[in-house]
Amino acid sequence: MAQYDLTIHEAHRLLKKGEISSAELTKAVLERVDEVEGKVCSFVTLTKDLALDQARQADERIRAGACSPLTGVPMLLKDNMCTKGTRTTCSSKMLENFVPPYDATVVEKLNAQGMVMVGKGNMDEFAMGSSTENSAFHLTHNPWDLERVPGGSSGGPATAVAAGGAIYALGSDTGGSIRQPAGFCNVVGLKPTYGRVSRYGLVAFASSFDQIGPVTKDVTDCALVLNVIAGHDPRDSTSVDRPVPDYTKSLIPDLKDLRVGIPKEYFAEGIESGVEQVVRQAIGKLEELGAELDWDVSLPSTHAALACYYIIAPSEAMANLARYDGVKYGFSARDAESMWDAMGKTRQYGFGPEVKRRIMLGTYALSAGYHEAYYLKAQKVRTLITREFADAFAKCDVLVTPTSPTVPFRIGERVDDPLQMYLADVCTQPVNIAGIPGISVPAGFVDGLPVGMQIMGKPFSEEILLRVAFAYEQATEWRQRRPAV
Ligand code: GLN
Repeated sequence: MAQYDLTIHEAHRLLKKGEISSAELTKAVLERVDEVEGKVCSFVTLTKDLALDQARQADERIRAGACSPLTGVPMLLKDNMCTKGTRTTCSSKMLENFVPPYDATVVEKLNAQGMVMVGKGNMDEFAMGSSTENSAFHLTHNPWDLERVPGGSSGGPATAVAAGGAIYALGSDTGGSIRQPAGFCNVVGLKPTYGRVSRYGLVAFASSFDQIGPVTKDVTDCALVLNVIAGHDPRDSTSVDRPVPDYTKSLIPDLKDLRVGIPKEYFAEGIESGVEQVVRQAIGKLEELGAELDWDVSLPSTHAALACYYIIAPSEAMANLARYDGVKYGFSARDAESMWDAMGKTRQYGFGPEVKRRIMLGTYALSAGYHEAYYLKAQKVRTLITREFADAFAKCDVLVTPTSPTVPFRIGERVDDPLQMYLADVCTQPVNIAGIPGISVPAGFVDGLPVGMQIMGKPFSEEILLRVAFAYEQATEWRQRRPAV
């Protein structure tokens, strides 16, 4: 097996025994990037020199006997997490040349483990989108079919992990941006419980939904990364002070005593029949593994989730994006006659069309006279959705659904139809609305295109999610399939 194909745990075993060095592994991954990047285009910034330098440092640590699971393992960061000294663009013209003066908490935590960062991953601008087509810089292609989208907004991270351009990656998920691209690329993606991972240094999109999480080749790797990035951070007041268990302890290959619910609203209209078949088969597998199935679960407000999300997320985004005024940081228009003109032009040139659409939606939803009809109503729906999940989790340990209603769609197919694009996240957004955790695991293929299964649980039940995902993964061979790029 090529070194770039290794998982974290496989690489760790070899690094620890001294059978490979981090420098060697990093070179193998960088060579792989050279080989596939022209086709897949996962990166906004490639940090070769930094990676090789970090790899040398990691090798020193390893020689000194300090080899933890992530030490010296090359990875990719989505380009909305601040990296001191390396530009952080959010795939936006607005931040094209923005070099943060500090590291995000997750980056500090990874650094403390001997991180090797090969680069920053492409994404939809400010994480708004489901196909990575909203990047201001370039498209990213699905390695399973280069004519198709990789999903989004974490398209760079998911494709890099799938194609061998990074052993693992971090993404962010506001409405599905980790899970949906993971599903589209046949890798594992976890959106942790809101508050489980610090958002400090994550460029804000919709602050009450945003969470950082792992994108990995398998569930063991997912647990290893979560072990490091989870935990309380005094710099993020929404992070929760709660002990971090060793998530690898929950990797048990059976599902005895677990009750798995299948919410009927997720197997209704709009789900492609091929996707539905794959996920139903996967559910059958869970039963074989010892789970008790409950087909009688209903989340009746699911139909309102998309509308709820597209009121609240743009409202928060509109407020968060007010900071890009051309004064504090980022792009600044120079051809202006007055301060207001400069601000207007900075935003006119600096933001792409989808970001502007969100700002307008949010401004409308929060404006006097509409605030109650839209924003307040959406908050009430949010409470209903959260309660319905709580009721479902009173009788089930986890709920299982497709990650996406469709297989990866063709590049260009939905760019002119925002509603179609928004529908790509129907299955994932409710999880962010309720603040609960959700994971996508490879569940099979339809005509050579990957399908993900989503497993959701109550707040802070990541251990159960990982257990179900692991048992399923071990009983199937989907994760071993690699795209031929
Ligand atoms: N596709 C959704 C949106 O455009 C979710 C994106 C995300 O999770 N960052 O808002």
